This record gives sequence, structure tokens and C-alpha cells, in this order.
Amino acid sequence: MYTGYPFHSRHRGIGISDVYHSHPACQVASSIALEYRLPGNPLGWPECSYCAVHFAPRSTIRPVHTLRIASSLDLDSSDEVSPT
Ligand SMILES: [Zn+2]
Repeated sequence: MYTGYPFHSRHRGIGISDVYHSHPACQVASSIALEYRLPGNPLGWPECSYCAVHFAPRSTIRPVHTLRIASSLDLDSSDEVSPT
């Protein structure tokens, strides 16, 4: 049994293709039973897209404050939000 990351498995769980998983927060990875996991990625499979999302830089994730600006009538060009 292998419980580390990255791992691969011939059991895909809820996934739809052969991939390796690199992040514990991946729900596809979590759907694969521990006894079916094998260490690493010796077969050269592509990285799971869900794992890739978890490792994405912050700049590619839409910031929360974007929603506040979009929903506000105040279109001040400043990015700073006054604490008043
Ligand atoms: Zn994954």
C-alpha cells in the first residue's frame, strides 16, 4: 500500500483517463483506494488535471476581490479597498 504523492494507479477511480496524481486535495486521487496506488509515475502518464489546478500559481486563480469590485457601483480605478 502506498499513501504518498505522486502516485499512479490502473484503477482510475472517478477519473476518465490514465493519469498520475500529485496532490492530496485531488478528489479523483481520493477516489482511488490506497491498495491500488503505486508510487511515482514510471509509465509517463500525464498529470491529473485536478492535481494541476491545485498546484497552479495564484495569479491564474480569480481573486475573491474581483467579485466585490464587479458587484460594486463604485468603479474607482484604485485596487485598494478603503477600510472605512
Ligand atoms: Zn489528481
